Amino acid sequence: MTQANNPYVSFTQTVDQAAKLLGYERSAYEFIKYPERELSVSIPVEMDDGTVTIFEGFRVQHSSLLGPYKGGVRYHQSVNHDEMKALAALMTFKCALANLPFGGAKGGVIVDPSTLSKNELKRLTRRYTAMILPIIGPDEDIPAPDVNTNEEIMGWIMDTYSMMRGHAVPGIVTGKPLLLGGSLGRTEATGRGVSYILRETRKRLKILEEDCTAAILGFGKVGKEAARRLFEDGVRVVAVSDTSGGVRSARGLNIQAVVAHVESGHKIAEYQENGVEHITNEELIATECTILAPCAVSDVINAQNAASVQAQIVIEGGNAQITAEADEVLNKKECLVIPDLVATLGGIIVSYFERVQNVQSLMWDEFEINRMLKNVILKAYDEVWEVSRKNAVPMRMGAYLIALERVCTAKRIRGIFP
Ligand code: GLU
Repeated sequence: MTQANNPYVSFTQTVDQAAKLLGYERSAYEFIKYPERELSVSIPVEMDDGTVTIFEGFRVQHSSLLGPYKGGVRYHQSVNHDEMKALAALMTFKCALANLPFGGAKGGVIVDPSTLSKNELKRLTRRYTAMILPIIGPDEDIPAPDVNTNEEIMGWIMDTYSMMRGHAVPGIVTGKPLLLGGSLGRTEATGRGVSYILRETRKRLKILEEDCTAAILGFGKVGKEAARRLFEDGVRVVAVSDTSGGVRSARGLNIQAVVAHVESGHKIAEYQENGVEHITNEELIATECTILAPCAVSDVINAQNAASVQAQIVIEGGNAQITAEADEVLNKKECLVIPDLVATLGGIIVSYFERVQNVQSLMWDEFEINRMLKNVILKAYDEVWEVSRKNAVPMRMGAYLIALERVCTAKRIRGIFP
């Protein structure tokens, strides 16, 4: 990793630029560049063949200024310490931006989960939970799903934590199964949020659905839901991809058929439909379309491929999809970049609703949850839109300006202990 594509370096540099625009002295915001607490853990896992493999894991707690630490846990072979620090810091900013009473954290394990059996994955999750147990808790730090983790894994975390405490603690995670105190609408929330924002953006830019095309990079929880909802809205989804590669059709893909194909355990590269062309992920990024939605792992839009982007709007459906260098290229092209800080808010907003339901021991219906999600995410979007226009800066900087001001104000009010 070079300085240029180190996500933590990008975060601190953007913070410096935002602080300059806000006229802050270094001492007023320097604290935000450092995570409050970090834990590195080793996770021995007994494999099915009886051997033991050691995995490396992290939990980074960036800020608890506005509430308990909050953020997902990802399982991926590319997980690394600086990425964890950057993603934890982004969580602090996302919560501040949406006015949620949470701080920011992130966890992860360096592992390709597709190489593990289900039992190995369960043992890895339980041991990881045991290792980070001293620093998590329903009022301290609340994990959630992220890349390659899901409600089943959250259920195992909840069980492990509860066993160690001697009683059920549903509030230890969000994004858990409904029966264990999960929330309706949580699994789809991030993709749904992306679609609400895109609908609003099309309205503001006066782009009719029949004139709008979309290409979606990544077909996990977020990409799949965003594709499905764009398709329902009448937008032509012309290309989608997963790690195996992609498919493209200028007429628009039959997204229901692609979703059914993927949900029956197949890769997108194996998908067949009349007139469909098989493409690489790089070709997907260069596809002629109105909207490009990267919903994959970090840095997929980078200095090597940013110039090939033809989309008018790029929405960061996953965290840290665009490197700082690529961001500059896109801004110069006058491409509207809707940054992760706003675009991915759906997940954390419904996590907050889940926590509120847990605290009150009640359950809201899905209609109500989606209605509130739409209100909260569009309010944040609108604020970012206004601030970026008023200051003539890209939306990413607009989002940093709002979030940085909120955390610095909170710091000033709370003061320094002791
Ligand atoms: N992993 C998701 C995110 O990055 C959700 C975090 C949460 O719900 O705590 O926004």
